[in-house]
Amino acid sequence: MANSQYEYVKQFEQPDRLLPNTWIVIRIDGRGFTKFASKYGFEKPNDRRALELMNAAARAVMSELPDITIAYGVSDEYSFVFHKSCSLFDRRSSKLVSTIVSTFTAYYVHFWPSHFPNTPLSPPLPSFDGRAVCYPTVQNLQDYMSWRQVDCHINNLYNTTFWALIQQGGMDATEAEKKLKGTLAADKNEILFSQFGINYNNEPEMYKKGSVVFRDYEPVDPGTHNATAEVDNMARPVQQSKTQAENDKKKRAKAPIVVEHISIINRDFWDRRPWLLSNKPGKIPKEP
Ligand code: ATP
Ligand code: ATP
Ligand code: MG
Ligand code: MG
Repeated sequence: MANSQYEYVKQFEQPDRLLPNTWIVIRIDGRGFTKFASKYGFEKPNDRRALELMNAAARAVMSELPDITIAYGVSDEYSFVFHKSCSLFDRRSSKLVSTIVSTFTAYYVHFWPSHFPNTPLSPPLPSFDGRAVCYPTVQNLQDYMSWRQVDCHINNLYNTTFWALIQQGGMDATEAEKKLKGTLAADKNEILFSQFGINYNNEPEMYKKGSVVFRDYEPVDPGTHNATAEVDNMARPVQQSKTQAENDKKKRAKAPIVVEHISIINRDFWDRRPWLLSNKPGKIPKEP
């Protein structure tokens, strides 16, 4: 194609590549969801419908983007992890972030009516911001995930106690905040139990642990593989033949994408699912 006199404008596009050979985490977060939640009457502290809608949108994102190995969601946020061998070609920050944000938002709106059948959306419509962060090692990545899950726990214990004081204890927000100021986890557990008969341990796992989304293959025995060391020692994406890459793609497409509310802080979670780190598809689980 002939160059036009306008072609020079292309030089203005600046590179925005994320560091090669690192795990890319894209975290999205609902914009102004405090207001959004009250507009649509989300139940406090946890609206199950809203969380399940977030999870449905995250699953849809993962099934469209096979380079995502795991995702973790809590409240109005979701973190999506691209495997470190995700190709150089795709490692443009703005491109990845915008793809995730738009795909997620589109599905959030698409699935809204099946989770909130009696409350149609009206402007301002839900929207999300997004950012990309690179993590060099498996430990860094696992610590990132642990950070989010611990944040979920801390916030949920606080919110559960805060709203019990209001909804069952008859306090207003200022009084509840004052009561909780400076309290430790044990104090909140005690308030919940002695004043409201709530055993925090019996709260729903989705509220306590958040939601983990991943492809489900047959779990393996921990100690039968060395996925962490192998992937940490990788210097560049594994060169695959075209047939091998296509086979992997087919296996990934066949694997069910599950949403579970379990500890990802526990090493066992990773050790039983080496494919999360190795990116090699596992065995498809047998039909129960
Ligand atoms: P920002 O635009 O800066 O993110 P925000 O209002 O979205 O502002 P966040 O810190 O992201 O602030 O907090 C999310 C808000 O959405 C919280 O107030 C939280 O209670 C509410 N929220 C999100 N999901 C739910 C849910 N499933 N049930 C009840 N409330 C929810
Ligand atoms: P931004 O306006 O840049 O989006 P933010 O306040 O939403 O900033 P994030 O960088 O998105 O913060 O942080 C993600 C989450 O980390 C927050 O929703 C919050 O739960 C937690 N967090 C961040 N800073 C703190 C802090 N100083 N103390 C406790 N939790 C924090
Ligand atoms: Mg938000
Ligand atoms: Mg948030």
